[in-house]
Amino acid sequence: MTRTALATLALPFAHAWASHVEARALASGAPLEPCALAVARRVGVVHAHRVRVRVVAELPWPGPLWLRALAIRLRLAPPDIVGVSIGYGIWLRADQAANHALLAHELVHVAQHERLGGLRSFLHAYMVECLTEPGYPAGPLESEALRVAHEVLAADRDRAGACRADAVGVDV
Ligand SMILES: [Zn+2]
Repeated sequence: MTRTALATLALPFAHAWASHVEARALASGAPLEPCALAVARRVGVVHAHRVRVRVVAELPWPGPLWLRALAIRLRLAPPDIVGVSIGYGIWLRADQAANHALLAHELVHVAQHERLGGLRSFLHAYMVECLTEPGYPAGPLESEALRVAHEVLAADRDRAGACRADAVGVDV
């Protein structure tokens, strides 16, 4: 089986879990602050008002044990992850709650999921990206998130830091 076929096979399970996790974030997360709302629009999020952010001690990633095993096998579960975006829901680890660079990075993934036509399409593209060379984090979606977040926050710093982006590093 090709790795792309593996991603296609795993998609229904990953999507069911991700939809549940997105719903949890949307039900109990906080809307973006005005500054983050502006960043969201600059990185290309169309429906920025729909985004909700949950700050938690432990990220809901990569989910239940069966999905965790699958994610490790698919190389979708980097051990040092501190934030994850699932649809319009963004989850940040509590010690990274003030990390504007991380939030900007996750907002680029929100924009990507809109652009690709929704959570299911994004998940598939992201899984394929992680499964095929060059893999995480060098694939196109992850590279774009790194680059765009960096550019937007660098521009903020040039404009006296609308989001106090210089308070934290931009390497995520
Ligand atoms: Zn990312």
